[in-house]
Amino acid sequence: MSAQNQQRCFIGLGANLSEPVAQLKRAIAALAELPASSLGKVSSLYASRPMGPQDQPDYVNAVAELHTGLTPLQLLDALQQIEQQQGRVRKAERWGPRTLDLDLLLYGNAQLHCERLTVPHYGLAEREFVLYPLQEIAADLQLPDGRSIAQLCLQVPRRGLTAIGSAHS
Ligand code: ATP
Ligand code: MG
Ligand code: MG
Repeated sequence: MSAQNQQRCFIGLGANLSEPVAQLKRAIAALAELPASSLGKVSSLYASRPMGPQDQPDYVNAVAELHTGLTPLQLLDALQQIEQQQGRVRKAERWGPRTLDLDLLLYGNAQLHCERLTVPHYGLAEREFVLYPLQEIAADLQLPDGRSIAQLCLQVPRRGLTAIGSAHS
């Protein structure tokens, strides 16, 4: 796949079970191995408060940049395969605890909506654990609708979001 066909994507990673820091590091290594793709910048690891049900451990989150020649649905399939390899069990409860969540936040400048995939990810603009790690690795980023990451961060409080270390160490 030639570089011209590659799209700049951002993947949101989250985990709050079974050693979340190790889960995220393993997932980042798996992203680096994806076909027709190359891993770009990876944010720090962040501790964050859970969304939804509060009777679950805090989360560890990060955002990774990926240049890929995969189509959006090929990339979603690959992300879900990594989730499954790392023991994710899908339960009925929304936003319940999980070993690994990989969300496709942005796929180039595309705006997509089909049964399996909405891009940009619908929660991107409201979630502190997505916005601040994104800003760390792509401070000049603009969403397809023209809003800047800097502007969005100013509108969303950190809710205790804290950088806890490097994804590479
Ligand atoms: P949330 O989507 O609110 O962050 P979640 O990540 O826990 O919640 P999942 O159970 O991981 O939700 O995903 C539910 C479905 O969302 C998936 O089966 C997938 O088809 C769909 N989906 C739609 N858009 C996206 C996207 N941009 N990235 C990942 N999954 C998506
Ligand atoms: Mg999610
Ligand atoms: Mg998900």
